Amino acid sequence: VADVDQSTPMTDQERAVLAAIEERREDLVQLASDLIGFDTITHRPGDDPRAEVRLQEHVAGRLEACGAHIDLWEPSGADVAPHRQVPEEYSFVGRPQLIATIAGASSPRRLLFNGHIDVVPVEPIDRWTSPPFQAEIRDGRLFGRGACDMKGGVAAMVFAVETLSLMGITPPTSLVVNTVTDEETCGAGTLASLAHGLSADAAIVPEPTAFSAYVACRGILNLYVHVTGRAGHATVHQPHWRDGGAVNAIEKAAIVMRAVELLREDWSRRGDLAHDVLPPPSIVPTLIDGGEWRVSYPSACRTFYDIAYLPTQVDAGGGGGRVREEIAAWIANGTCHDPWLAEHPPRLEWGNDIPPGHVPPSDAIVQCVLEAGALVRGSASLGGLDAWHDAASLNRVGGIPALAYGVSYQDSDGRSLMHAADEHVLVDDLVACAQVLALSALRFR
Ligand SMILES: [Zn+2]
Repeated sequence: VADVDQSTPMTDQERAVLAAIEERREDLVQLASDLIGFDTITHRPGDDPRAEVRLQEHVAGRLEACGAHIDLWEPSGADVAPHRQVPEEYSFVGRPQLIATIAGASSPRRLLFNGHIDVVPVEPIDRWTSPPFQAEIRDGRLFGRGACDMKGGVAAMVFAVETLSLMGITPPTSLVVNTVTDEETCGAGTLASLAHGLSADAAIVPEPTAFSAYVACRGILNLYVHVTGRAGHATVHQPHWRDGGAVNAIEKAAIVMRAVELLREDWSRRGDLAHDVLPPPSIVPTLIDGGEWRVSYPSACRTFYDIAYLPTQVDAGGGGGRVREEIAAWIANGTCHDPWLAEHPPRLEWGNDIPPGHVPPSDAIVQCVLEAGALVRGSASLGGLDAWHDAASLNRVGGIPALAYGVSYQDSDGRSLMHAADEHVLVDDLVACAQVLALSALRFR
């Protein structure tokens, strides 16, 4: 935890930059509103592109006017094919990525701002007070899809760079702005940027973190468990299955589910899985699909499990191999007492593995952001994200020390704003986020 007393005092130039961002807050709100106005709902395979090109060109145009070198390109699916976290035969048609670079004054080092421009779908649309892609200010808050996660953060990072440029200030290190697509599904945009040559000495991802420096996030595993039974008339008395009787696949799936529940309880109490800034790993059934007819024993049941695992649980390759083995062994042990399941073991179908990430709190960029956060907001603390975000790829694949730092993710009643109807961000938060990013840019060496 950093507080103002321990920070290097601000220079007159730094004070002037913070004041300029405050004075230009209307422009910042306008930029965030412009970004919200582009429908960039995240890509589902088979969907047409949305307004990704227009948004990226809008950001590129503004940064080019600041003297940035612009690289706006459409990746090929082959660029991300080596990554298990990306579905096979991925396409980026109509969804370009942007890398804009502004040369630094003295240092060969580079500071990266990375943000995703895709947003989650807007349903349930009838819960919105104003149209999700038409930004609206009410009571000091900017409403619209992505206001919080994370077009507000993208606006703040672009605005920080722009303000420095307008004031004629060149920070010591080069500034790299990378706006990407496909974060909400699998992180393909940042992976494609890394494959394209994106590199830096440190990165800040302005995801909503309530002004906490998020130094870690959990990884995600997807699992389908298939259980078979044997069909038969549900209302007709059935003999033992060894004598040809029917077997209820849904009831057998419940045995798997109970075993998984015990694993989750075990994980939540195990000392070796306690983490400084993250909750324990979890495994939760979220979809179930079984049975064929109201009056038949279900012959098959498929259950989807959403799994989150810790950076401390990764295998030698940085992924979830060890976690997969542990889950498979636990399910085998928890179901083998059932004679049917012993002879017809559940089949595990593993889907995406999106590995976790972390950066040491002692790293220069974390200390830099903590200090800048303390100067702008009075204090700053460390934290972590239960879910996943692109900083994990920057750390793990790019070897770039990266953390997330940005606006609040809850309203005053504690309700989550991310992925919610009436998503919004406090305008004051946007201003503070841009100020911390600009100050970090001035101070990073
Ligand atoms: Zn996000």
